[in-house]
Amino acid sequence: SLQCGIVGLPNVGKSTLFNAISTGKAEAANYPFCTIEPNVGVVTVPDERIDILIGLVNPQKTIPTIMEFVDIAGLVKGASQGAGLGNKFLANIREVDAIVHVVRCFQDENVVHVEGRVDPVFDKEIIDIELQLKDLESIEKKIQKTEKGARAGDAKAKVELEWLKKYKETLEAGKNARSLEIDPELKESVIGDLQLLTVKPVLYVANVDEESMLTGNEYSEKLREAVKHEGAEVIVLCAAIESQISEIEDPEEHEMFLGEYGLKESGLSKLIKASYALLNLITYFTAGVKEVRAWTIVKGWKAPQAAGVIHSDFEKGFIRAEVIKVADYEKYKTEAAVKEVGKMAVEGKEYVVQDGDIMHFRFNV
Ligand code: GDP
Repeated sequence: SLQCGIVGLPNVGKSTLFNAISTGKAEAANYPFCTIEPNVGVVTVPDERIDILIGLVNPQKTIPTIMEFVDIAGLVKGASQGAGLGNKFLANIREVDAIVHVVRCFQDENVVHVEGRVDPVFDKEIIDIELQLKDLESIEKKIQKTEKGARAGDAKAKVELEWLKKYKETLEAGKNARSLEIDPELKESVIGDLQLLTVKPVLYVANVDEESMLTGNEYSEKLREAVKHEGAEVIVLCAAIESQISEIEDPEEHEMFLGEYGLKESGLSKLIKASYALLNLITYFTAGVKEVRAWTIVKGWKAPQAAGVIHSDFEKGFIRAEVIKVADYEKYKTEAAVKEVGKMAVEGKEYVVQDGDIMHFRFNV
């Protein structure tokens, strides 16, 4: 499945956050196929719509969707030159599909800052530069290869070379590869094979102290300002508190604890939802008395491909899908009632499944 890698300088709160994520993994025990390495955490994706469906259907079993986080510790200044275990960590980042970049926005004299002072924007840039330098290596190698073809008159190679040079300039200017605007297909042919680090989607976590959990602080504001042009999301949370919240198993106690802090939702829950969206993932549901289940698909998938997530036969033999919106189900209470008022849509092979659709597939075996 798709993974988000948690990166950041040492002592910014990555492990604290990762432990909070891994503690909340109880429900993932439904998934025996997940062999979990120590630095990989599986979480269920919080989804209020499942609770609505449970209320309506009262199923014997409920299965939420899951996603994975990878703790990528040990990035330091000089990592791209092999400092620390730099190259190993950079290789780990290459394997993830999106990046959660944790930035220290809390003061604490007892927690050493590797660079000597709290400066979230500078910290973020240290990490960015290491990733950019690594990408520059990959781009330069590919430029060398592509130049041969371009010199020999290969038209495709010429176009690619032009774009590779644009990537090079972008990186040399201290910008991330994702900031370069390029047609998606062209992008695939120019850099698709390189697995660049700075082309992966990113979101930032501003790890603030307990007092600033609801409001953010001067540091998190600076960070927000600095990443504005990237269009990236910034999630403000306090990792230390999140870690405490995640220890509470009883749902009512959990609610109470959040309430005491004035939180409607845990920071972790916000982070997981945002990461899921960052991976371009959406959820559809199947709802029956036996089982209410959430299924993960990529945004933009058509009905047959979405059906294939359940079983390949569903995709091969796809005839049509009956689709209900959660809001309509909630309003009319039963499938029959929804159908009667004409709110059950019958969709064919070209239907693009929407987030939150309740699907019933019809297929030939
Ligand atoms: P990592 O090196 O990025 O994985 O950082 P850790 O999660 O190990 O945290 C480094 C230190 O900062 C630990 O002593 C944590 O207890 C502390 N820490 C983490 N999050 C917070 C926080 O939100 N507030 C404060 N005051 N300390 C924190």
